Amino acid sequence: MKLRHYFYGFLVALVIVLATNYLLTANANIPLFSNSVIDNSVAQVPNNPKFAIPLKCQLDKDCFILLYSDRDPSPKAVDFGCGRQTYDGHKGTDFAISDQKIMAQGVPVTAVAPGKVLRARDGVPDRLIKNQADKDTVKNIECGNGIVIDHGNGWETQYCHLRNGSVVVKPGTVVETGTQLGMVGTSGLASFPHVHLGFRYQGEIVDPFIGPNVGSGCNNTRHSIWEQPLSYKPTGLIRSGFATTQPNMDDLWSGKFYDTVLSANSPILIFWVQIYGVLAGDREHYQLFAPNGDRVIDNTREIKSPNKTSIGYVGKRNSSQSLPQGKWRGEYSLTRDGKVLVNVSKEVQWIINN
Ligand SMILES: [Zn+2]
Repeated sequence: MKLRHYFYGFLVALVIVLATNYLLTANANIPLFSNSVIDNSVAQVPNNPKFAIPLKCQLDKDCFILLYSDRDPSPKAVDFGCGRQTYDGHKGTDFAISDQKIMAQGVPVTAVAPGKVLRARDGVPDRLIKNQADKDTVKNIECGNGIVIDHGNGWETQYCHLRNGSVVVKPGTVVETGTQLGMVGTSGLASFPHVHLGFRYQGEIVDPFIGPNVGSGCNNTRHSIWEQPLSYKPTGLIRSGFATTQPNMDDLWSGKFYDTVLSANSPILIFWVQIYGVLAGDREHYQLFAPNGDRVIDNTREIKSPNKTSIGYVGKRNSSQSLPQGKWRGEYSLTRDGKVLVNVSKEVQWIINN
């Protein structure tokens, strides 16, 4: 078959991985979270309170926990599952959404229990912090647009990085579980769209997966304070798709490459995945299938070093329009110790559109 021969003659496959550990979110000593006087008019949570998640989304589908609290008091960092999805001094849980396109549509941040708003800030612009200069611009406002709620009985929660202009409560507002506070954003010290949720009990930071009054380290007995069972999921998919240029982290966090139809005049067809929590030794498998079902890329690679977030992709050059029009399919899997942790299948229409 002539077409087929011609087609394979121009095969160029590439696997490129971009990775970064430069993930930022609110850190220690956030001014918003100062000590408060317990207000007896506040609805009191019970002695062993349970808390909802702080945003309206389906966890592990529309949103995911990207970073946990740091449980290592030294300059090293460890999460409660003895993994590395945290960084030194991180004092909260980061519930992320995939990108700023979804952020612009609006994902509500909600109260995790009944209580009364103690402090609220709005007016800090949304941006993605990428370097030290960016970081300097949010000095002392690391939490960005944030809210602190007093739940009574010694419990407080703090919500950070809300979208500029989205905060709909003020000090004194009484809230119930699920009351909207604002929208997920990227204000303050944030390098990806998320809400940072911090817990305090009697002035002490609490890791919600472990519960109050527990020492540091990651081998503690867990007394979760979540009202729903939340599993430890340190590795997962953020998003996947197709592109006609090589994607980078900024592109993906900002919400590019949602296209389901791409021009067959483009110089290259790329299938990409954005993943969190890869570890050295993980195996990635990339496949790309032509419209006739032929597998034209079949690449396996082993992850060499761990990364909190990473992008991987494969692509085929479209020299002289060698790639046939039609429905292309990309498949990806990430396997650790023989167990498949991520499995993706995605299609795109590749057509000449005049
Ligand atoms: Zn955080």
